[in-house]
Amino acid sequence: MSNSGSPSSITLIVFGVVQGVGFRPFVYRLAHEFGYKGWVKNIGFGVEIHLESCQKTDFEAFLQALKEKKPPLARIEKITIEHTPARHLKGFSIKKSRAGKSFVFISPDISVCEECFKEMYSPSDRRFLYPFINCTNCGPRYTIVKSLPYDREQTTMAKFKMCPNCRQEYSDPLNRRYHAQPIACPVCGPQVKLLEATTGRELEGGVKTAASFIKKGKIIAVKGLGGFHLVCSPFNFRAVARLRKIKKRKTKPLALMAKNFSIVKKYAYLSLEEKKQLTSGQRPIVLLRKKEDIKGIAPYLNELGFMLPYTPLHYLLLNDLELIVATSSNQKDAPLMKDESEGVGQICDYIFTHDRPIQMRADDSVLKVVNKQPLFLRRARGYVPYPQKVPSSLAISNQIIALGAELKDTISIYKNGYVVTSQFLGDLDEYLNYKYFQETIDHLSRLFEVKPQIVVSDLHPDFQTTRFAQKTGLPHFQVQHHFAHVLAPLLEHNIVPEKKVLGVALDGYGYGDDGQAWGGEFLLADYLSYQRLAHFKYVTLPGGDLASKQPWRMALSYLIDTFGLDYPHLQIFRDIKKEKLKSLELMIANNINSPLTSSCGRLFDAVSFLVGLSPLEVEFEAEAPMRLEAVAEENLNRYYEFSIDSSASPLQISFQPMIKEILEDLKLNVPPSQISAKFHNTLAQVTASLAEFAKKKYETDIVVLTGGVFLNKVLLKKTTNLLEKKNLIVIRPLNYPPNDESISLGQIAHALYKLKINRGPGFLN
Ligand SMILES: [Zn+2]
Ligand SMILES: [Zn+2]
Ligand SMILES: [Zn+2]
Repeated sequence: MSNSGSPSSITLIVFGVVQGVGFRPFVYRLAHEFGYKGWVKNIGFGVEIHLESCQKTDFEAFLQALKEKKPPLARIEKITIEHTPARHLKGFSIKKSRAGKSFVFISPDISVCEECFKEMYSPSDRRFLYPFINCTNCGPRYTIVKSLPYDREQTTMAKFKMCPNCRQEYSDPLNRRYHAQPIACPVCGPQVKLLEATTGRELEGGVKTAASFIKKGKIIAVKGLGGFHLVCSPFNFRAVARLRKIKKRKTKPLALMAKNFSIVKKYAYLSLEEKKQLTSGQRPIVLLRKKEDIKGIAPYLNELGFMLPYTPLHYLLLNDLELIVATSSNQKDAPLMKDESEGVGQICDYIFTHDRPIQMRADDSVLKVVNKQPLFLRRARGYVPYPQKVPSSLAISNQIIALGAELKDTISIYKNGYVVTSQFLGDLDEYLNYKYFQETIDHLSRLFEVKPQIVVSDLHPDFQTTRFAQKTGLPHFQVQHHFAHVLAPLLEHNIVPEKKVLGVALDGYGYGDDGQAWGGEFLLADYLSYQRLAHFKYVTLPGGDLASKQPWRMALSYLIDTFGLDYPHLQIFRDIKKEKLKSLELMIANNINSPLTSSCGRLFDAVSFLVGLSPLEVEFEAEAPMRLEAVAEENLNRYYEFSIDSSASPLQISFQPMIKEILEDLKLNVPPSQISAKFHNTLAQVTASLAEFAKKKYETDIVVLTGGVFLNKVLLKKTTNLLEKKNLIVIRPLNYPPNDESISLGQIAHALYKLKINRGPGFLN
């Protein structure tokens, strides 16, 4: 950096999450340390810092410290530096904000920080045991903001008038609660309430009594950051069974919240990386391998989902408890509840609530660690609304909204070079989830001041999202499901490939451009278009949607595909009535109510059922595949035969040889753990073969692994290892789930590219 005379002076613009996170007071203190004069102020899209030094300097040390010592919630995207004339200022000040029209970043909700934690447990502190303690480095954000600019009046804290003590802290630039918008104390802030669910009667004793009820086997609804949890003791099997009945969940795993890290270690194995995730300020649920099982929490699976407390209230509740079940308070097919009026009293014994309203719901995020990196199953609280920068060659000035798919939906908005993807919204075919979807569109549009000029949806003609898009009256793009799957990780990793990549999109279902149910797809793709290089050979989905709920139907479909109607009759079908089997055979043979599918999820269902791991009817998505994965022997390298028909276009991958071999193995009583391992290895081999083929023929050296099937840790590891041995570059999502939660991000990617290259006259005004 060249010096511009003496005294030196510069103006910095810092882009990123730098508002509402204590950044300006931090700069103020730093400038004091360096003895610089000048100012700091919020501007529309970041923070502007003007610095003057009476000695000649290049400000390098200051810049270094700015990046290294920044407050924990701050994320710096970019800093621009301008040499500006010195104004011979007398001191350093925090200037009033200037309203701006650009993108303002808001921090996600972050768990209570160490300093607040210490204060909360120090008897002399005025916030001793106060459940809403927070500061500029921690506490609620996304779930309490109503609109921008981010200040107290625009949050759900507006109704609490600050007491003189809080006001003083809030106004002092050197205090760590300077402009902490949710600042509160026992005198002026929110309060907890313990209510009897049936009568609404308020009970004495607050958190202590609530904890004692949990010990006694009661079910308590506890209000957290983004909604209510249903809480009970994991050691009381009857309470767990009752909770399962209330939630209509027989086997779906329940999340656990542990008092501290050493409790987690008692029940699960964890690596350093897993520990890092578990203890991070985002506090996700981390899936960990079972060490000691707890009956009824995650039956048939080899992992338990743990999180640590993330609000002061959770810490206080866990004071007298080691471990609780903390599952979101949604009833089947509805979003989690955010206040008592939504009927939470009907699904618990007691309600432990408070009077700080939740503006935006957000579920707990869920992840696991694969090859030392996070693999998200659900991205919500703690991560939303952190923005995603798009490659600069794709940035345009139009604003876009993308509506995602339908199951596990998210929406994404694009503005000024960044995408914000919403929290997980659930299955939009359910009325209450659909309302939540609309709620979220309104919230994000208001928060980021987005007025979309283009809307993007899935190709499926009957998805709620497609219909919603049509009703907006905006120019409308539709993007094929698996194409969007492939583009999302490319955008996330800021890759604009010169050559096409091989996108391996394995999932349960996406509407294909031939109208069939796709899900085992190998696409040659760039941002503009895709070519379907290969897919799993179509088999029938006997009974349509029912086939995805009853894995035995898929097992039958694969048997008939392999052997014809003379398929071998297996013991495993013994619980299905003869007439039912017969009618299904007829359906398959005559193509009645049997659409075609290339779904990888359905292949997993079939194999899981054949080896005896799947129930006749599954309760939740991917249940049969998860049970198959749970038993897989990791160190086995053998795999089954498969065939790739290269005379066809697209290439056809057939698993008929594999199905035959699996039946042989079953006859020989080969254990499910080995069959499962060989099956996983087979899928990895299929991908490796096609990747090798694509590299030779199309010079693709990047392989994108995406789609919900890649939540399977065994498959992801095996496939990645094989591909890397062949010197291919493997890309997979790190900050977004590979499942349909990332579809809206992929839709934005395609829309950006289309708009960038197609900007002919009159295309958009
Ligand atoms: Zn704090
Ligand atoms: Zn106060
Ligand atoms: Zn999908």
